[in-house]
Amino acid sequence: MARILITSAIPYINGIKHLGNLVGSQLPADLYARFQRATGNEVMFLCATDEHGTPAELAAAKAGKPVAEFCAEMHAVQAKIAEGFGLSFDHFGRSSSPQNHALTQHFAGKLAEAGLIREVDDSQIYSHADGRFLPDRYVEGTCPNCGFEKARGDQCEECTKQLDPTDLINPRSAISGSTDLEVRATKHLFLCQSQMKDQLDAWINSKSDWPVLTTSIAKKWLHDGDGLQDRGITRDLDWGIPVKKGTEDWPGMEGKVFYVWFDAPIEYIAAAGEWAEANGKTDADWQRWWRTDMGADDVKYVQFMGKDNVPFHTLSFPATILGSGEPWKLVDHLKSFNYLNYDGGQFSTSQGRGIFMDQALEILPADYWRWWLLSHAPESSDSEFTWEQFQQSVNKDLADVLGNFVSRITKFCRSKFGEEVPQGGSYGDPEQALVTELTSRIQAYEQHMENMDVRKSAQELRAIWVAGNEYLQSTAPWSTFKSDPDQAAAQVRLGLNLIRLYAVLSAPFIPSASDSLMQALNCDDRSWPSDVAAALSMLSAGHGFQVPENLFAKITDEQREEWQARFAGTRD
Ligand SMILES: [Zn+2]
Repeated sequence: MARILITSAIPYINGIKHLGNLVGSQLPADLYARFQRATGNEVMFLCATDEHGTPAELAAAKAGKPVAEFCAEMHAVQAKIAEGFGLSFDHFGRSSSPQNHALTQHFAGKLAEAGLIREVDDSQIYSHADGRFLPDRYVEGTCPNCGFEKARGDQCEECTKQLDPTDLINPRSAISGSTDLEVRATKHLFLCQSQMKDQLDAWINSKSDWPVLTTSIAKKWLHDGDGLQDRGITRDLDWGIPVKKGTEDWPGMEGKVFYVWFDAPIEYIAAAGEWAEANGKTDADWQRWWRTDMGADDVKYVQFMGKDNVPFHTLSFPATILGSGEPWKLVDHLKSFNYLNYDGGQFSTSQGRGIFMDQALEILPADYWRWWLLSHAPESSDSEFTWEQFQQSVNKDLADVLGNFVSRITKFCRSKFGEEVPQGGSYGDPEQALVTELTSRIQAYEQHMENMDVRKSAQELRAIWVAGNEYLQSTAPWSTFKSDPDQAAAQVRLGLNLIRLYAVLSAPFIPSASDSLMQALNCDDRSWPSDVAAALSMLSAGHGFQVPENLFAKITDEQREEWQARFAGTRD
């Protein structure tokens, strides 16, 4: 049994995420976690909300709430939506947890001991109108790189360049809009990433099995221009993790907090500590996932994220871990995704464009979205959501191929043999041919899942469903029944067993439908098929079942048009 540690990029707290966010991290991570558990491996699947930084403060101010209260509420909202989508986290933590406070301060202390943190006399923008410093996103202005006029002080949304607020041309306050700003002296801590450039480079070079999308982004940051830069890890803010050196005060850093990019990835580790606390476990129970001196040596650690998060996960977070000099687990495989676009443009949280996770669940069951998103995952390039494609994919794949198979076989059985697995006849050549085909397809499916090739996995699963339909079409038990009822019984028996096999194989993609099928079959044996012939004889004659009602309803043209119009504008 292998042990697999899985983390999904942690969603920011300031609002409900859209489907593009979901397919770029949490959903494929869940697919992989469910597959690993189903095949008998031990899994620790962690996610959390990313709660610090200026956007949380700004969103809380807009909602008229204290920031801590706002974050607690939004965490509950995001947790509930994640549950609605069937995201099977072992723990969904919070980067504001006491565990993350302690760990972040601990790492900062270790990095300081290793000589990898330096104090820098910095300058920061002060707003006279607002009476305060304006860190990162509190400042907006024109991007010095591409000329985009609404660039934020931490990053330009247009060209994705990382910025400092003082880089912006024509800066203004994001709070008041005031341009009465002044650059004032302050002091900040910087992580000396540049000192770790060669170590990081060697580590990235050792990852020959990583996708090119991942390594090319990391290499660009390591080598382009002046190479990897030192980065500020503190901010003049109230909300965040107070700057400390381990448990000691940090002279000169009073009243400052760690910058969100430093503490957010540490939450991957802290979330395991939160899991232990929430489940009555010990420190050793979570450390065996994260400390190579405590048992994590044989753990495979996989991260899932959108491409915009790759630099942090290939460079900044590893710099924190390697720089600490302590035996923490480093990522073994990093799966990154391109962007999902929405109907001719981009999904946008700030502009409320596209479909958001809560809205999606209001109109259709999670499995419909899971299936479409995963089978169209933006792996090799960006992909696009259109309502026409969504309707076509749901209606064809789920309703016509899988749903129709289940409905035909169960209804035919009920009408001729009653609601139990029929007796009589035996499996022959057509059944053997099906077993052979399914055996090779299931091996391919497992290989694609193991490799995290999400689209290929979906295609193979669909082909597995199609094989059952083709079997049913060619053997035609409704015709066989007229001349040889015993043989028809064997064909139906195989079909009913195939439904169980489909429920097991499909569960990582469509867990609710899988549950409905298992319930309809009165079966709770979810063992992964190592022997297809044996799996197709599991439900024996006399085993009772019920015909499942409406496994998948088709999306009508009227519904599609209504939703197309409803989501064309902006949210609110
Ligand atoms: Zn730009």
